[in-house]
Amino acid sequence: MYQAKAYSVSSATAPFAPTTISRREPTDTDVQIEILFCGICHSDLHQARNEWKEVMPTVYPCVPGHEIVGRVTRVGSAVSKFKPGDLAAVGCLVDSDHTCPECQANLEQFCPNMTLTYNFPDKHTGGVTYGGYSDSVVVDQRFVLSVPSNLDLAAAAPLLCAGITTYSPMRHWGVTKGKKVGIVGLGGLGHMGVKFAHAFGAHTVVFTTSPSKKDDALRLGADEVVLSRDANEMAKHAGSFDFILDAVAVDHDLNAYINLLRRDGNLTMVGAPEKPLPIAIFGLIMARRSLSGSPIGGLAETQEMLDFCGAHNITSDVEVIPIQKLNEAYERLLKSDVKYRFSIDMASLKSE
Ligand code: NAP
Ligand code: ZN
Repeated sequence: MYQAKAYSVSSATAPFAPTTISRREPTDTDVQIEILFCGICHSDLHQARNEWKEVMPTVYPCVPGHEIVGRVTRVGSAVSKFKPGDLAAVGCLVDSDHTCPECQANLEQFCPNMTLTYNFPDKHTGGVTYGGYSDSVVVDQRFVLSVPSNLDLAAAAPLLCAGITTYSPMRHWGVTKGKKVGIVGLGGLGHMGVKFAHAFGAHTVVFTTSPSKKDDALRLGADEVVLSRDANEMAKHAGSFDFILDAVAVDHDLNAYINLLRRDGNLTMVGAPEKPLPIAIFGLIMARRSLSGSPIGGLAETQEMLDFCGAHNITSDVEVIPIQKLNEAYERLLKSDVKYRFSIDMASLKSE
């Protein structure tokens, strides 16, 4: 074991504070990465504040962070994919069983024995996994991804969660040219959803509660922007969408969006609000619409997404912050005041 610098929370109500954590020495198949940037996902906030206590109760101290990019510092003797000095990235997954049907299908995100990057039982240490709000991480090579060299690193970090979480369901549900696609919530996930829907050639409509984001939505690739609190604007789109991706982190009315789907249209939730949301079932029945959810993506698809981003020069719009501004960033996240992802410059951790 060695000691790594990190920022953690000690309870659901405590602010982040500097700490040290134990990381394992790299095994034969491990890659040690010096973390250069880590994005701040709203999931980090849900988890730090134990908002998902029903499904994933938080173990404290908690070190979130699953949008990790950095440079390889050490590799185990059996590592062939990476060498010291390489750029590398880690997303939401750090292990799975490799034997179940989901893993065999390259869908490790559904493996019953997967290990998430933080707040999950860690078979190596006997404790829980610690995420990327830290100066280094040690991960099995199978869960380490390659970052295209043309991408800005601070802006590439959010691809590891916000990127794959929006890319994967759009690929699954066939978002292509000729399709009308809605993106609900122009936050970290939503703004990546807009970039991908646009890149896939779909007619892209953003639903936002923030009038001030209208121009940005168009700049990011939207063809139209709807202020979702304006019932008249919403009504104009009734029954017209092939696919809607909902990336809202809090309680809101899903039925308003289900009614915008055409026959056989699908609404996929990637946003993960704390409480159950009521659904008017007739909205689904009468037009054979479907409602589904989607978690992150598998390793192969995450690499495909990164390569797609490299080829199309797609990154996140980031506000780079020092780690000392973590608590302030969380407060701003709650106010939808981020354009459009915070990316922590981990060099700031050296001064702690
Ligand atoms: P975020 O940056 O905070 O964005 C959420 C957006 O929701 C806000 O920017 C805002 O956009 C909109 N919003 C806020 N309050 C609202 C309200 N009262 N009514 C309607 N819309 C509202 O969050 P994020 O990091 O993108 O994450 C979004 C959600 O996805 C979180 O719940 C997160 O846990 C979840 N998530 C899921 C997965 C997965 O695998 N499924 C992966 C990552 C994250 P506007 O200002 O445009 O309205
Ligand atoms: Zn995330």
